[in-house]
Amino acid sequence: MTTNPGKNVQYLADYRPYPFVLSATRMRFALAATDTRVRTELSLAPRDPEWSEDLVLDGGKAVRLLSLTIDGEAPDPAHVTRDGETLTVAAAALPRHPFLLETEVGIDPSANTAFEGLYISNGMFCTQCEAEGFRHITFYPDRPDVMATFHVTIDSDLPVLLSNGNPVGQSQGRAEWHDPWPKPSYLFALVAGDLVAVSDSFATRSGRQVALNVWVRPGDQDRAGFAMESLIKSMKWDEDVYGREYDLDVFNIVAVDDFNMGAMENKGLNIFNSKLVLASPETATDGDYERIEAVIAHEYFHNWTGNRITCRDWFQLCLKEGLTVFRDQQFTSDMRSAAVKRIEDVQALRARQFREDQGPLAHPPRPDRYEEINNFYTATVYEKGAEVIGMLKRLVGDDGYRRALDLYFDRHDGDAATIEDWLKVFEDATGRDLAQFKRWYTDAGTPRLTMTEDWRPGEAGGTLTLTFSQQTPPTPGQPEKPSRVVPVAVGLIGPNGDEVTPTQVLELTEASQTFAFEGLGARPVVSALRGFSAPVMLSRDLDDATRAFLLAHDTDPFARWESGRDLALSALTAAAQGQATGGNYVQAIGRLIADDAADPAFRALCLNLPGEEEIATRLSTGGITPDPDAIHAARESLARQIAETHLDLLARIYQDMTVAGPYRPDAADTARRSLRNAVLALLTRIDGGERAEVLFGVAGNMTERMAALTALLRRGRGQAELAALHDQFADNRLVMDKWFAVQPMAAPPAQAAQIARDLATRRDFDWKNPNRFRALLGGLSANHAGFHAADGSGYDFTADWLLRMDPVNPQIAARMSTAFETWTRYDAGRRAKALAALERIASTKGLSRNTREMVSRMIA
Ligand code: ZN
Repeated sequence: MTTNPGKNVQYLADYRPYPFVLSATRMRFALAATDTRVRTELSLAPRDPEWSEDLVLDGGKAVRLLSLTIDGEAPDPAHVTRDGETLTVAAAALPRHPFLLETEVGIDPSANTAFEGLYISNGMFCTQCEAEGFRHITFYPDRPDVMATFHVTIDSDLPVLLSNGNPVGQSQGRAEWHDPWPKPSYLFALVAGDLVAVSDSFATRSGRQVALNVWVRPGDQDRAGFAMESLIKSMKWDEDVYGREYDLDVFNIVAVDDFNMGAMENKGLNIFNSKLVLASPETATDGDYERIEAVIAHEYFHNWTGNRITCRDWFQLCLKEGLTVFRDQQFTSDMRSAAVKRIEDVQALRARQFREDQGPLAHPPRPDRYEEINNFYTATVYEKGAEVIGMLKRLVGDDGYRRALDLYFDRHDGDAATIEDWLKVFEDATGRDLAQFKRWYTDAGTPRLTMTEDWRPGEAGGTLTLTFSQQTPPTPGQPEKPSRVVPVAVGLIGPNGDEVTPTQVLELTEASQTFAFEGLGARPVVSALRGFSAPVMLSRDLDDATRAFLLAHDTDPFARWESGRDLALSALTAAAQGQATGGNYVQAIGRLIADDAADPAFRALCLNLPGEEEIATRLSTGGITPDPDAIHAARESLARQIAETHLDLLARIYQDMTVAGPYRPDAADTARRSLRNAVLALLTRIDGGERAEVLFGVAGNMTERMAALTALLRRGRGQAELAALHDQFADNRLVMDKWFAVQPMAAPPAQAAQIARDLATRRDFDWKNPNRFRALLGGLSANHAGFHAADGSGYDFTADWLLRMDPVNPQIAARMSTAFETWTRYDAGRRAKALAALERIASTKGLSRNTREMVSRMIA
């Protein structure tokens, strides 16, 4: 094996400040597709004039140095050294006082297929600098704790020329931008292209008039309105809830077709993957609309949590990402249904973060080492980072949280901060000691909680004693896990279904701890981990009857949903091991969905069975090797049982949930469609596809058409519908991405890898486009039994394409390699095939640092 652990490892413990202070950066771009010239002036000063240090600037291999001067003079060439990743000016050539360093470089955006730095997408110049892309544009101290004001001049004949900050000059072929807020290089952005804007404006509460633009390609304007509405809501919400105002005269958003991630919070110039901007009823689903609203908000919220207060180093990534995800989750719960949002977030956390935590890629929200920072934009840093803040808020209360955040903005505005700074504001604002809480940031792994109950009746009322124990399994590099503080929200429900003790937060701090509830009339049923008050796995002995009782009576929507989930999972895991059936779940779910007074979105969430991946996780948590084919069969059979048992009820709901009138992506209509589509998936198992075919034909919106198509494909039908969709939308990239993704995803598992292979030979499989590549490979890995086909076909297909992508776009290859992250939990036959695929990747010469790190961690 060709792994080099240790070679490029960066350690948190090695942090030291940059030895120079950079106050101002001026840049001039002469844009040209193959030979762009960049002149950069850096106003530098030694941090400590007593010391003499070399000046080390970052700069990627493809940056050609054309000239360099210090205070206008070229230094002795012997004092300037260039290696593949840096440019060093020896201390001997540097003044001990403030000086101006000027460079000119040449770069080739047309050759940039990795989409990091300055590149071209559909004829448009754009940049991506987080985390370390700026060093592919010019020589620079490319690290987040070096912050400067930027003045940028762009020379180009393209009609729209954008950068950060405020526009300060515009003439034929030239634009000038000034950003007065000191920022690190990763927040730099430049866009130049033939673009059109959807425009609006926003008056901040202190009266600043902000011009808002969403820039898209000509022809896409009619699909940018929803993004603009979402932006305005976000700006208002951040003022109302966090007291945060926008701080420039313009806010620009640009949609780009080739983009490695979702979107990027560059100061005053957010750049978005076009799939998170463009939406029309005919082309985007309800889920797309909800994501667009949330991501527009997320990037906007970064203006304070990320930009005004940034990160000292990349180990602190969750300082900005965890907090900004937490804020966008709060925003969505305010805009839509808080209960539905919480359940959706927990589902996503379990599917992505718990999965990550269980395997070889487990790491803490604040890692203390990495080889390639781009590999740490993970569910743990983002989603678990947000959960940790949710716990903190629960522990200090809403008022304490508000005071702590006010203090954070006050104390750290303009800083590059750390997790220690963040925790300190909570300690100072609330007086609480957070030493033990900090383990949530530094320790990896999902704690396992066990809860047992002891009931003692008595004359003055009975006593219920709850005993909790916690234990966290080892993760790579962390064999021992001390106890953490875990907030467990608990409520008690009487035998008649009334709540007898409203929600209380129990604070677990020990490995094992008891809590007593006294003076109770009769033995209550415990509703535990309400609102999913901590990102843990809770196990308790509960029979199906009690679960069904909680599903019927719990007042906490998350806990109520969770009871239904547990019922379904116990039926499914039993069936996947060849035991009994899911009668209890089938009965309970029938009662729940028949309740017309309940929120349709909630009913849909309860009716959707846990996915195969989640069943596999549940099994392996219990020490059982998951069999993907048996899991698939068990899930299919339970779905069929529900459909057969409740056929009439489902048919009635399908009629009742028809949404009349023009399409609206709001919470109410989305809820009705989600229930109707969940029901359709079940009915399609019985009606031969009749309803789905009709719906696909008459539906004017993509939500219903995709639901119908997916239901049909899962039953081995839908070919005519696929062809129709292709005919209608061959020119629409975003719809075609869905078309590529749904086929391997919804295919019968035995055919999934072959379907993916066939699709990959098509001329319109534009694989260098990250969305298209992700659609196909991600579609296959979303098909659990298909990706894990016993013959290894899913693994081989994926490895072939990762190897093809790696030299072109290492970030995308490395990220998609996580399809393998659970490989160790399967049977010996599958393990051998997965390992062979991973070793084939690892032994490939010239593999990128990104993919090498991922693969070597997975086979370590
Ligand atoms: Zn973010």
